[in-house]
Amino acid sequence: MSGYKIEHQCPQCGAPAILEETDRLFKCAYCRVQSYLLRKNYFRYILPSNAPAGKELFYVPYWRFKGMLFSSAGNTIHHRFIDASHQAIGSNSFPISVGLRSQTLKLKFVLPKTKGLFLRPTQPFEKAMQIFKDRFNTGLPRPIYHQAHIGETLSMIYSPFYVDKKLMDGILNRPIVHNVPKNFDIADLPSKHPDDHIRFIAAICPGCGWNLDGQRDSLVLTCSNCQSAWRPGTGELRRLKISHIATKSKNAVYLPFWRIKADIPDIDLATYADLIRLANLPKVIEKSWETTKFHFWSLGFKVRHKDFLRLSRGMTLSQPDGSLIREMPADRLQPVTLPVTEAVESMKIILASFAKPAQKILPRLNNITMKPKSFLLVYIPFIEKHHDLVNTELNMSINKTVLSFAGNL
Ligand SMILES: [Zn+2]
Ligand SMILES: [Zn+2]
Repeated sequence: MSGYKIEHQCPQCGAPAILEETDRLFKCAYCRVQSYLLRKNYFRYILPSNAPAGKELFYVPYWRFKGMLFSSAGNTIHHRFIDASHQAIGSNSFPISVGLRSQTLKLKFVLPKTKGLFLRPTQPFEKAMQIFKDRFNTGLPRPIYHQAHIGETLSMIYSPFYVDKKLMDGILNRPIVHNVPKNFDIADLPSKHPDDHIRFIAAICPGCGWNLDGQRDSLVLTCSNCQSAWRPGTGELRRLKISHIATKSKNAVYLPFWRIKADIPDIDLATYADLIRLANLPKVIEKSWETTKFHFWSLGFKVRHKDFLRLSRGMTLSQPDGSLIREMPADRLQPVTLPVTEAVESMKIILASFAKPAQKILPRLNNITMKPKSFLLVYIPFIEKHHDLVNTELNMSINKTVLSFAGNL
């Protein structure tokens, strides 16, 4: 599947570097310094222009989304992969999407020094998302009860244009409309240079000064010296509470899950006993389960969409809270590549996947309020077999190729 490359320089020595869209931990091949990339809200990029020298460029903003769309529709949950862009100014004069022409071009971050006139996005991301959904929803059964988009990438791409008697595409140097529309004046469109939004910081442990560990796309960094974990905040790394479940096996890989506690006032789903009733699980309810708190469990790493829901649902039905150890596992960790925000976004779809009778819950799904209260990152051990990673206590398995694919989704 396609992904953009980003041209940048090492923040330490200035050596040129090519980043992936998902890169966060950057190790410079020249000076060896390791830094971590923080951003405000979402990345802003420009596509490089090929316009003749001297042309005054202006940039049109496009929302770009790459991720999974889950739809509770008819009797089941449908899922698909989306990789799409849509214009963020609602203008008929410019192409509606960035288009395929750009897939081979390298993006650049919009920096304070980046020159050009930047048209201000006037359409929120939700509007672009609704357009993507409308496009895909034509094939879905009705009614559509709820949709959730689990994003791997949400960004804003600015594409260059200029005026030369005609309105010109700054990449292809071709007119996009054959005459400049009457009364067209670029100054009439609201513009604003995007905020300074990225920052590289040294990837060292804020707790003890040791080098932090992670892979290039890790959203959580760990310190092997003081056993702490860190996630990106605004402008700094923030300490993250983590736990794991122990195993005696020497051959374990620890897979990260987000465990979320949420208030759901509209339905009875506060305890483990509530879950057994709501999912109609074949279990005799023990008295203590009436006070055992219920949590949503959602995957903390990228997989193919059909595995995302299967594993999140399986873990939520298992509620493996019993034996949590409040420290980091010593063994091999699968990097966290999905943030907790996406776990929160997935809660209703997980609920839709097990609630019974479906006809009673699904029509109410969009109106049910879910207020996330707290979260915890939990590493669950899976034992490495020939083709699969297996956790027999939880009766769950995941194909190893799914993990190796994950980075290319
Ligand atoms: Zn360097
Ligand atoms: Zn440390």
